[in-house]
Amino acid sequence: MRRVSVLAAGGGLVLAVAAIGFGASHWLSGASKVAATSKSDAELTTGAIAGRWPGNEPDKTSAPAPTVQPAPSRASEPVRAAAPACANPNALGVSRTVEIDTAGGPGLGLSQYRDYDFLEPGEVVLTFDDGPWPVNTPAVLAALDAQCLKAVFFPVGKHASWHPAILKQVLAAGHTVGSHTWSHVNLAIKPLQEAKDEIEKGFSAVTLAAGQPIAPFFRFPQLRQTADLKAYLGQRNIAAFSIDVDSEDFRIHKPEALVTSVMTKLKKTGKGILLMHDFQKSTAQALPEILRQLKDGGYKVVAIRAKDTAVTLPDYDALVAAAVAPVKTSNAKPIAGVIRTVSGN
Ligand SMILES: [Zn+2]
Repeated sequence: MRRVSVLAAGGGLVLAVAAIGFGASHWLSGASKVAATSKSDAELTTGAIAGRWPGNEPDKTSAPAPTVQPAPSRASEPVRAAAPACANPNALGVSRTVEIDTAGGPGLGLSQYRDYDFLEPGEVVLTFDDGPWPVNTPAVLAALDAQCLKAVFFPVGKHASWHPAILKQVLAAGHTVGSHTWSHVNLAIKPLQEAKDEIEKGFSAVTLAAGQPIAPFFRFPQLRQTADLKAYLGQRNIAAFSIDVDSEDFRIHKPEALVTSVMTKLKKTGKGILLMHDFQKSTAQALPEILRQLKDGGYKVVAIRAKDTAVTLPDYDALVAAAVAPVKTSNAKPIAGVIRTVSGN
């Protein structure tokens, strides 16, 4: 089995975890003392990861523990559009929003990256992969909206190009959108250049479908990465998102079973980045109850956004634009030049 160390490219990375809005008092404590680094297995799958999750050992070759920058004072913060008010006074709501500085390509999610343990006990980040998809993605958006929550979405480039209007709904609702490759192939078994192409086409396609810049946030399909690709993300200033809790919604199809599975695993880890799929019907059906139980269980939802936007590469923008363009108009000749009546009226 191939072992691949997770290297944070650039060495002296800084993850600025700044609290925005209310809840600012607890912004610092978790991130400042993290046992640095992890060794991660390139062949982990989402299914396998939950069982292995405490098992990673420290890797002395990885980057040093992060430094945490103080949050800027309110006066110096950029002006941002005010979020729409929450219509539900009993909603779970977002307890705090953190902003990630993706310079150097930090990795988040303790199952593969141990550098940045930024969540407090009881804090959960909601993430949704593989969309946008008809019916299921809108159902997920409705469930999040009912609880006044914000999540991070990792769409597949091809899916975004097929359903741009649904992707735009995700953005319009104020969620953070990253990318999850062009066609959801396992990058760990692809030649390096092909794997890079998948990453770049994914960012270009999601950006094109979104009609606006997206976050430089990336998740490897099946969480399968290599050291070379992690380093490449570092050069591109793209953060890699792993997970802490796997909903396993790809194999648990009964909503009740999914709710139980998610809540049981979350109780065990006590906090973390939760992997779900807006592509999956089971998640679309189970999410309202999962969110209710999060609220009843006293969990707090943390929203994540990026300090900067993803910079796409023009060559890939052109490739994707050509790939998703409407089918060329017919090169047919005038009908009389092809078909003429040779007998009869
Ligand atoms: Zn996926």
